[in-house]
Amino acid sequence: MKNKTKKIYLDHAATTPVDKEVLKTMQPYFSENFGNASTLYSFGKEAKDSLDKSRKTIAKTIGARANEIIFTSGGTESDNLALKGIAFANRDKGNHIITSKIEHKAIINTCKWLEKQGFKITYLNVDKTGLINPQDLEKAITNKTILVSIMHANNEVGTIQPIAEIGKICRKHKVYFHTDAVQSFCKIPINVGKMNISLLSASSHKIYGPKGVGMLYINRKVIIDPILHGGNHEYGMRSGTENVAGIVGFAKASELANKRIKIESERQTKLRDKLIKEISKIKNSHLNGHPTQRLPNNINFWFKGVEGEALLFRLNEKGICASTQSACSSHELKPSHVLTAIGLTAEQSHGSLRFTLGKNTTEQDINYVIKLLPKIINSLRRISPF
Ligand SMILES: *Cc1c(COP(=O)(O)O)cnc(C)c1O
Repeated sequence: MKNKTKKIYLDHAATTPVDKEVLKTMQPYFSENFGNASTLYSFGKEAKDSLDKSRKTIAKTIGARANEIIFTSGGTESDNLALKGIAFANRDKGNHIITSKIEHKAIINTCKWLEKQGFKITYLNVDKTGLINPQDLEKAITNKTILVSIMHANNEVGTIQPIAEIGKICRKHKVYFHTDAVQSFCKIPINVGKMNISLLSASSHKIYGPKGVGMLYINRKVIIDPILHGGNHEYGMRSGTENVAGIVGFAKASELANKRIKIESERQTKLRDKLIKEISKIKNSHLNGHPTQRLPNNINFWFKGVEGEALLFRLNEKGICASTQSACSSHELKPSHVLTAIGLTAEQSHGSLRFTLGKNTTEQDINYVIKLLPKIINSLRRISPF
């Protein structure tokens, strides 16, 4: 991008920059404090202490115990560990798993693989706003069901599921409940006890921490197998020398985000609602997702007669980074499985655009988008073949 144009990054659901304070906290762990946490001399011990401290910090943000936090390489690995680990450890109890049609690919594709291994998967429908119906969930549970995996907040349309209600149903039927909370962790309050969550995935790079690190919360009563075998790191749940610098950075990022969780979510909700209100004034524009039960930072619209990719390109020329689908699939031509599940046609899906705000997003940034977007859409519609 030409450095003359100012850059407005509105794709925080895809990834976030590492916070400067986080980077500073990580720095000593690369070459000064490089000890292996499994060794016994003093700086190995220091690494171990830093891991323990990080575990405590992260556990605290969701009301868990430190020894219920397993560090992984990110959200994708956490999702894989939760699903495969539960599936294989509980095979004697049943082979049925319930999830939804709008999960992240890390869940959907793991489920598809599990189907090939003989597991039966129910993919629950969602309504037009992206919500699952808890009654549908309850009806889908059989005596073969071992796990329910429903994401907390959707990465594309921002819809927040009634997690506590889902947790209650799972508890009643004695079924494990996993939630992919990568988009909600440290953005909206989570309490694993109150919400009856058995397993929860989170990722560092969505909350201003480094990439390549995440965690899986596993309630101490859960029976689960590891998917990586080796030197029994992480209570035997995830072998491999710990990424100490990454983990320390992740913990710092969670601490910083959690401290400002209320202030930041209120601030972003205001900016979100302003942007939604203004974009709604554009003719033939429709909000995707739920009007109120949505992430404080998510705005997703479809525009009739506009190509999302073309829109993205024009915005990029003006220094605005947005997204047409989730980052992982933006090079695919297939319409988003999430937008399809909420009832959009392929054409509507391809005319959709997502903005996701972050802690450095200002009101000026939003005003800039409000000023530019209608003009770009009008000009695209003039040249559109539809
Ligand atoms: C980003 C994301 C993931 C994957 O996390 P990584 O750390 O990038 O592997 C999983 N689930 C959701 C909802 C996400 O937004």
